[in-house]
Amino acid sequence: MGIVKRLPKEVAARIAAGEVIERPASAVKELVENSLDAEASSISIELDDGGKTLIRVTDDGVGIDYDDVGLAVENFSTSKIEDFEDITRVTTLGFRGEALASIRAVSDLTIRSKRRDGEIGREMVWKGETLVEDRPYQMNPGTDILVRKLFHDLPARRKFLGSGSSELRRILSLINSYAVAYPVVSFKLVEGGRELLNLVGGELGERIEAILGSKVFDYLEYFNYESSGIKISGYASLPDFTRGNRSMQFYYVNGRPVRNRVIYHAVQQAYYSTIPKDRYPAVILFLEIDESQIDVNIHPTKSEVKFENEGVIHRGVVQAVRSAIGISSVSSDDGENKLYRGVMPPSWKGERER
Ligand code: ADP
Ligand code: MG
Repeated sequence: MGIVKRLPKEVAARIAAGEVIERPASAVKELVENSLDAEASSISIELDDGGKTLIRVTDDGVGIDYDDVGLAVENFSTSKIEDFEDITRVTTLGFRGEALASIRAVSDLTIRSKRRDGEIGREMVWKGETLVEDRPYQMNPGTDILVRKLFHDLPARRKFLGSGSSELRRILSLINSYAVAYPVVSFKLVEGGRELLNLVGGELGERIEAILGSKVFDYLEYFNYESSGIKISGYASLPDFTRGNRSMQFYYVNGRPVRNRVIYHAVQQAYYSTIPKDRYPAVILFLEIDESQIDVNIHPTKSEVKFENEGVIHRGVVQAVRSAIGISSVSSDDGENKLYRGVMPPSWKGERER
């Protein structure tokens, strides 16, 4: 008799869920991305104990069709792609179809949703994998999702979570980063009944000022650059404003917040010799590039991105940021960059992610 056994479906689901939903902030991220994909103009996030006992995300987006509410929480169920090739042209934040399924696998989940053109909404409540409620529900169009007792029967995972306030800090910074990418959307964050954020939809400049404060905003210069099929725009601080870490840096590729060492390196290089090595400017940078030139399907959390042509991205970011802060990267007669010749920082290729 062989000893290899196929795991029961629920066990497999819980193992896989751990990759997508690591902590309260990852659940918030997935839910907020869904609301943004649903074209919500207003998103409200409610938490208790940093999301450890309750996460509730309510939106006024398109809603889920009455017949689809149950399907939406099944694994690999999505309305956003249809076949594998579609991954090379995704324009939505989600596409893997596993967020709601993963959240359900590790919590008690309630979904209420009503289509904008729907007659009535539907409420479904699960305790773990068991459906305990399924009924028509009176509500405004949109979607309202409640995640209770995250990881309640996964004590090992719970142990790795920080205190409520440290989980809250992560969620705050996550929401700020989506709020910068979607300035027209209103965001509200309430924790333990206390309102911590209330960002009204408006223009990008206003949104950045609301988040970073007007003092920091005064140091920011706008840039807008386009070359070789990429568009890079945003704000960069003059070299006399710096921080000890990247907390005032926001990077986006096609509207998706990303961590990327090529961009990190290019930004530091743009400021090279104007700021100390261990200091970081405030930068808000939006990179737009054809979806076929990037891979966002590197990691289940989709927060990393791989560029097909890193050299083009690096050069573009250096030039875009320099154009904002008044450092010319335009060159001398021989076409080389005078200012930096001979003192170039090490190539980003070898640099470790910070
Ligand atoms: P994905 O976002 O990768 O498609 P999810 O598990 O996050 O997968 O969601 C599954 C599906 O449920 C989505 O494709 C979408 O059709 C629907 N959905 C989830 N959240 C919302 C929401 N807030 N508003 C409208 N539809 C939603
Ligand atoms: Mg999703």
